[in-house]
Amino acid sequence: MNIVLIDKEKQYIEKINQKRNLLKNLNLMQAIIFCFFNKGSIIYSKEEKTVLNFCEKILKVPYLYGKIESVLDFENHYAKIKRYEIPVLMYHQFVKNKRDGGKIKLFVTEKTFELQLKILKFLNYETITFEELKSIGLQNRFFKKYIILTVDDGYKDNYEILFPLLKKYSMKAVIFLVSGLNYNKWTIESDNEKKFYLMSTEEILEMQNSGLVEFGGHTLTHLDFHKAGKEIAEREIIKDKEITEKRLNKKLTVFAYPYGHRKEETKKLVEEAGYDFAVSTDTGAGIFTDDLYDIRRTAIDKTSLVDFLRKISPRYAQYKAKKYKNKRG
Ligand SMILES: [Zn+2]
Repeated sequence: MNIVLIDKEKQYIEKINQKRNLLKNLNLMQAIIFCFFNKGSIIYSKEEKTVLNFCEKILKVPYLYGKIESVLDFENHYAKIKRYEIPVLMYHQFVKNKRDGGKIKLFVTEKTFELQLKILKFLNYETITFEELKSIGLQNRFFKKYIILTVDDGYKDNYEILFPLLKKYSMKAVIFLVSGLNYNKWTIESDNEKKFYLMSTEEILEMQNSGLVEFGGHTLTHLDFHKAGKEIAEREIIKDKEITEKRLNKKLTVFAYPYGHRKEETKKLVEEAGYDFAVSTDTGAGIFTDDLYDIRRTAIDKTSLVDFLRKISPRYAQYKAKKYKNKRG
């Protein structure tokens, strides 16, 4: 972020910023013009200024004043005012033909997925992983057109169909592995689903070595956190992380809640386990810095082409979050 300071009092922000964001000193008029034309810029002043409140409303120039709780407040406020966030898409299975898929239809066909990758390329999106987001820095995430493709459960078709397409278009994805099973036991039990195998360690390592795929945690047995007590939840999070880290010989950055289900205590357990981020399904604010352990995702299985174009918009998650909230009152 560019934080533009309009009064001479720089020390306070310098202290909480710790060289994270770029600080700039401008006068009021210059600040408004600069932030209007430059992405990832926000104005800060010590005292509230009516003219800046007005500019934020009319020109969408993000503005904060007074006491700042955390340096994340800047990105959080920017995302809110600009209604801008990195889209995080959610996939499950990839099939050659529709009849190869299961009856709960959590799949996209190879042809559809290839078209989606072409669209993302054409629109100049850059696919990144959560590891990369961490090194780019949350404060720098508005400067480029990033998108994150995520895939749940780790089905064998991810290796057979998704992976060749990622290589073909040099695009990246994040796959969440269920580490204690080698097939979809949970959907067979709940929906009498067809049997689908999960990837082997060799396949996972080949994908990791390509540099195109990051793996994340998704519990040992695809646990539903709404139905589990704290002790079981903790074991499923910690054991799963240990097993996958051992298989990959590296630390995991990101976790996905199975079914998107989590309680407040689940988020804490995931953070304590050492993850940097956790993703849910269609819940959460649609702004990463609102809660790094409740990052909203948009499901793509069963999506038409027109809906896909809407769903990859950086404004979509917040639009949905707001609509959902209104519906719930
Ligand atoms: Zn899952």
